Amino acid sequence: GAIIFKDVHFAYDPQRPILKGVSFEVPAGKTVAVVGPSGAGKSTISRLLYRFYDIQQGSITIDGQDVRDVTQKSLRSAIGMVPQDTVLFNDTIAYNIRYGRPSASDAEIRQAAEVAQIGHFIHDLPDGFQTKVGERGLKLSGGEKQRVAIARTVLKAPPILILDEATSALDTTTEQEIQTALDVVSKNRTTLVIAHRLSTVVGADEIIVLKGGEIAERGTHTALLEKK
Ligand code: ADP
Ligand code: ADP
Repeated sequence: GAIIFKDVHFAYDPQRPILKGVSFEVPAGKTVAVVGPSGAGKSTISRLLYRFYDIQQGSITIDGQDVRDVTQKSLRSAIGMVPQDTVLFNDTIAYNIRYGRPSASDAEIRQAAEVAQIGHFIHDLPDGFQTKVGERGLKLSGGEKQRVAIARTVLKAPPILILDEATSALDTTTEQEIQTALDVVSKNRTTLVIAHRLSTVVGADEIIVLKGGEIAERGTHTALLEKK
C-alpha cells in the first residue's frame, strides 16, 4: 500500500488554506514521519487519507488508487490508526482489544496483547476476564491506553498504519516501551507517523517538516540534524 500525496491543496475554510501543494510518498512497507508545529496540518493529512474531507486540488492515492474511488469502508479496513488519545469502553481489556473484530479468538487477543506489552493485564484472568477497565477506573495510564490501541491495531493488521502523536503524552520510560511495540507493529507496514518532535521519529525512512502549509524540509533524521 504505497501512499502518494501529489500537489495536495486543502482548506477547511476557503479563506484559510491549510495545505498549499504538498507532495510526498510513503513507499509500501516504509515509514514516513510528518513533523511540524501545532496547527501545521499534520492531523489533517491523516483525515484526508481517510477521506473525511475532500481536497480542492491534487491527488491522494493508495496503491495507485485515488482515495475518491475507494469506499469509506475499504479505506477504514486498509488503514489502522493509533490515535493521540484512546477512548476505551467500560469493559475488559480483552473486550477493548477485540473491539471491531468480534470473530477474533482468545489466542489472537492474547497474542496482540503481548505484542503491545499488556499481556499481563489479561494473562492470569480465567474465562470471563474479570478485570474491568472501569474498576481500574481512570487509573489506566495514558501509556496503558496507548497499548490497548496498539493491540487493536496488531489484531486488525492493516496494510497501512497511522501513528498520530502516539507517544507524545507519555513519560520517557513509557515512551521507549511503547516505541518498541510500535516498531514491531509498523515493521514492513506502510506507516505514516504524525509527530510534534523530531526526536520521536529517529527511525523513519523519511521525515517531512510541514510549515505554513508547505513542506519546509525533508530528509532522514541524521540529514535534518546536520542542517541545523
Ligand atoms: P496539527 O495536527 O499539525 O496540529 P491540524 O491538522 O490539526 O494541525 O490543524 C491544522 C489547522 O486546521 C489548524 O489551524 C486547525 O485549527 C485547523 N482545523 C483543524 N480541523 C478543522 C476543522 N474541522 N475545521 C476548521 N479548521 C480546522
Ligand atoms: P475497524 O476498521 O477497525 O473495524 P472503524 O471502522 O471503527 O474500525 O475505524 C477504522 C479506523 O478509523 C480505525 O483505525 C479508527 O481508529 C479510525 N477512525 C475512526 N474514526 C476516526 C476519526 N474520527 N479520526 C481518525 N481516525 C478515525
